[in-house]
Amino acid sequence: MAQAEITGHFIGGKPDMGGSRKLERFDPATGEQMGYVALADETTVNAAVDSSKNAYQDWRVVEPAKRAVILRRFCELVNVHGDELCQLITREHGKTLLDSQGELQRGIENIEYATGIAEHLKGEHSKAVGPDIDSWSELLPLGVVVGITPFNFPVMVPMWMFPLAVACGNAFILKPSEKVPTAGYRLAELFSEAGLPDGVFNVVQGDQETAGSLMQHPDIKAASFVGSTPVARSIYKASGDTGKRVQALGGAKNHAVVLPDADVESATNAIMGAAYGSCGQRCMALSVVVSVGDETADAVAEVLNKKVSELNIGPGVDNLDMGPLNSAPQRDRIVDLIQEGVDQGATILVDGRRHASYQQPGFYLGGTLFDHVQPGMSIYDEEIFGPVLCLVRAKTANDAMRIINDSQYGNGTCIFTRDGYSARTYANEVEAGMVGINVPLPVPVANHSFGGWKDSRFGDLAAYGPDGIRFYTRRKTITERWTSAPDDKGIDFAFPGSRSSG
Ligand code: NAD
Repeated sequence: MAQAEITGHFIGGKPDMGGSRKLERFDPATGEQMGYVALADETTVNAAVDSSKNAYQDWRVVEPAKRAVILRRFCELVNVHGDELCQLITREHGKTLLDSQGELQRGIENIEYATGIAEHLKGEHSKAVGPDIDSWSELLPLGVVVGITPFNFPVMVPMWMFPLAVACGNAFILKPSEKVPTAGYRLAELFSEAGLPDGVFNVVQGDQETAGSLMQHPDIKAASFVGSTPVARSIYKASGDTGKRVQALGGAKNHAVVLPDADVESATNAIMGAAYGSCGQRCMALSVVVSVGDETADAVAEVLNKKVSELNIGPGVDNLDMGPLNSAPQRDRIVDLIQEGVDQGATILVDGRRHASYQQPGFYLGGTLFDHVQPGMSIYDEEIFGPVLCLVRAKTANDAMRIINDSQYGNGTCIFTRDGYSARTYANEVEAGMVGINVPLPVPVANHSFGGWKDSRFGDLAAYGPDGIRFYTRRKTITERWTSAPDDKGIDFAFPGSRSSG
């Protein structure tokens, strides 16, 4: 793609600049303006849907094994262009290049899973469900489906969706976050280069208004959404009226529990990476640590205090511990929340506003650490989505579990312990969709599925893996009868059962 000042849409295999609205974008590492993103209006959305509808008619009947050949070529191209994609992620998002590489790798795993589509769509067959009668179920595509994605994983979250959706025979429209539009566009170019027919994967850039037009469009059959909880909830609610199938993954407040028998040094190292990596802008980021017993809590606080004070922060390309936050308004909101934490009585051990990087151009903020945090404080109740970690003290493991299970969110959680029984009890009883045992970021691999509980997910099916296949397909069950002689049984008014004589 030419380094256009405006990042546009990719529709029907071609660049498209449709729409007069555009949004200014800023480089998180310098704060300087770095171009615009086009914001699709209804006309552009309609054009993209028409293109997808046309493409779907041919694509749905392409044999799964042939779809897989194109996916494998696409996977190769993504690998070949991996460095370029990571540079794009880091430039627009702000995260370190190493973090972008991790993101890309987890995205690629989802393309690899989608290349097994012939196996995934095998269906189910039952022989002899009645006299001379066999029955089988097929998983068929839905039609045109849309993905609306957040800013924090410009490549990985779209890859949770479109490779599998397309592999299942759907046409897919991606609406990336307006804050990170370019990587999605580049992926569409690479998929096209791999041989994907025009219109099977379109990219429409835009904001809330664009997303609204997509969600209202009657020819879009399903929507995968990943973003904040209020938007996820509203999209899920609206799906009842629009008749679309929806999976809507929302925000999170992920807790780690440290039991008294845990190794504090290794637990705090793991917590540091999961809390402050990507500047805390991950839906699986640890934002609360619940230590069991005052002795454990004091030890954890002391070690974390030192480690957080030593965080190195700078531009993502320098690969220090943390890059900048993605935007100025986001940083301002986090700074306000830090002040609320102080005003509401939490003990601030490390104040990110005092870090030297906070005074530099760009959207930098140091790591912040609070102790003696309690439910009811804004820093505990709200998703901060920044480099702020809250330490909560619990008397017993049961108290820790109760605190976590009372939380509004239920995305991920983890426990640090050397005791198998405690870990097992935790995994059994904790109210969260993804649980780590001595694993700080328990993001499921591509052949499982990703999804939280409670206000972290709306919709029955989780993202990618087996749930992804189910989400992007509809089941058709065929029952057929072939007999050697003409049927001379006459009319039977009774409801047919599998044990009837035929
Ligand atoms: P966001 O909700 O502001 O935006 C997400 C997407 O929705 C963007 O494409 C945006 O343009 C669009 N959008 C915004 N308002 C909308 C509206 N009213 N109607 C329709 N579409 C709308 O989220 P964000 O700030 O980009 O991302 C951060 C959030 O995403 C955090 O809350 C984080 O926890 C969450 N997240 C969740 C997961 C998960 O798997 N559960 C993964 C990544 C991020």
